[in-house]
Amino acid sequence: MNGGRDQGRKIQKLQEKLHIVSKILEHMKEGVVILDSRGRIKAVNRAFLKITGLGHDQLYGREIQDLDLKWEGFASFEELLRAMREKKTWQGEVWGVHRDGTVFTSEVSLVKADEEEGIYVALFLDTSDRRNLEDSLRSLSHYDPVTGLPNRALLYDHLSYTLFRAKGRDKLVGVVFFDIDNFKLINDTLGHEIGDKLLKAFARRLASHFPSGTLVSRFGGDEFVVVLPLMDRVEDVEELVSSFVRGSTNPFYIDSQKIYVTVTAGISVFPMDGCDPQTLLRNADIAMHHAKELGKSSYRFFTDELNLKVTERFSLEAELRDALEKEEFVLYYQPIFDLNENHIVCAEALLRWHHPDKGVILPGRFIEVAEEVDLITPIGEWVLRKACADGRKLHEEGFPLRIAINISANQLSVRGFPSLLKEVVLETGFDPRYLEVEITESALMKNKQEAAKILKELRDMGVNIAIDDFGTSYSSLNYLKFFPVNKLKIDRSFIGDIMSDPNDVAIATTIIAIAHNLGLKATAEGVETEEQLIFLKLWQCDEAQGFYFSPPVTMDRLLELLRSESFRIKDV
Ligand code: C2E
Ligand code: CA
Ligand code: CA
Repeated sequence: MNGGRDQGRKIQKLQEKLHIVSKILEHMKEGVVILDSRGRIKAVNRAFLKITGLGHDQLYGREIQDLDLKWEGFASFEELLRAMREKKTWQGEVWGVHRDGTVFTSEVSLVKADEEEGIYVALFLDTSDRRNLEDSLRSLSHYDPVTGLPNRALLYDHLSYTLFRAKGRDKLVGVVFFDIDNFKLINDTLGHEIGDKLLKAFARRLASHFPSGTLVSRFGGDEFVVVLPLMDRVEDVEELVSSFVRGSTNPFYIDSQKIYVTVTAGISVFPMDGCDPQTLLRNADIAMHHAKELGKSSYRFFTDELNLKVTERFSLEAELRDALEKEEFVLYYQPIFDLNENHIVCAEALLRWHHPDKGVILPGRFIEVAEEVDLITPIGEWVLRKACADGRKLHEEGFPLRIAINISANQLSVRGFPSLLKEVVLETGFDPRYLEVEITESALMKNKQEAAKILKELRDMGVNIAIDDFGTSYSSLNYLKFFPVNKLKIDRSFIGDIMSDPNDVAIATTIIAIAHNLGLKATAEGVETEEQLIFLKLWQCDEAQGFYFSPPVTMDRLLELLRSESFRIKDV
């Protein structure tokens, strides 16, 4: 009986101890991080938040690798862990960028605390008190006294380290040169004191604009350099810079004076524009001067190609916004044949943009942008309306074809898609059992739960569901069980070389077999030759489309083809 009470007391004692330990941790001056064997952050104390400037929410569940710390003598934390396999502890200097853009260094002890579970504890010694003198000496050589930002020397150090980390990781590094446009004038007319205060305020604005891990430094005079580490896309660099340049028109308030400044920026990107700090800084500087020539308060990339990409994208986006209103979109239809019956059973609606100057633009050029800025939702709605209206017309003309439309992930995340569809079929009088929606695997996986719900509602209305470009993204077939699918469309990349590439043969025939095993139909896209057709028939593929039969054509041309007797495929 007593056993139970003893146990209870033990637990209580343990809890008290834990309580005391956590109190100590919270009040320790040293930063403490508890990690698992993969470097995932399990707990941190307040001192650690202070050192990094990050909040709890930015740390829990993240990996310490994400914090971009430099571990003395090691290229990465993984390497350090590897080296720690033999030893239980490690001590050394760790170097990182505080959220406010300043650099911190700490003496760190890393201890393997639990051999079995692989728990590590890292102690970050706050050395700033002890090394006050050393620090101020350091600051003199590494920090700019006016703004408190890292100076040119530290920028070089940091940039070489960042490039070292980016190499072999398939990541981009953005180097951005900022120059305050009218600084000299302000300095001359309002005085140096105001000038310095403005530099300080500008530095703060710059440092708070960029995400944590960014190095913001003063290069000299009114020039600042920002290093954006480990970026995935040029567009992300561009977005951060352009929003800062745009926002720089907000005034500064200094000694009750309202001061307006604008800023011009030049961007170079590793690895396209250089692989070492000198080259990247020089090219960002050149780009900045180029931007000034073209007009202040702007930004340029060093490479023309990148400039072109960005400007093209912007004009595309702007024109795309008007295209719907100006009725510049047209739907073409590509016939899909039933390979048992040898006649056309379906037509896939494919979007074309009849641009007033550039002629016909194919969806490959604009769908991605439309998705990014979510213009695809209104465009997709237009496609749905037009396709259903055209479908109804075909039925009235005596051709009861199914109509297939392509759907983007964005459209599936809008809850209202099924009700929109209901509205459209009522409005157009098109029987939803003749409608087929094509969705790619990746679009489905983006929002599985929601997509499954929406597809089920569509299925209940009688709409057919096809997986587009099947075989190109996910290898797990498990997800097929989640979704009420009718059909798999074999991506055209597997059909193209089907006569010569044994891998493609294996993939295509496997997809047909999978479809049949699951009670689904298989459609081959991109059939261009009679041999391919014979092969697909042999393997009992159900349907096919491609240039062999017909390219996508206008509605009028489709009607012509349907009316001509010969529009059946020869029995092969
Ligand atoms: P997709 O759904 O895979 O469409 C088939 C594409 O293959 C079409 O390109 C078609 O013209 C092309 N094609 C057809 N037969 C052959 C062939 O025998 N050989 C070759 N090499 N190509 C063939 P298109 O029209 O340029 O469309 C490209 C993609 O744009 C489509 O790929 C689809 O993902 C997207 N898309 C088209 N219309 C829409 C739309 O209304 N909404 C959305 N969200 N996406 C659309
Ligand atoms: Ca398609
Ligand atoms: Ca496709």
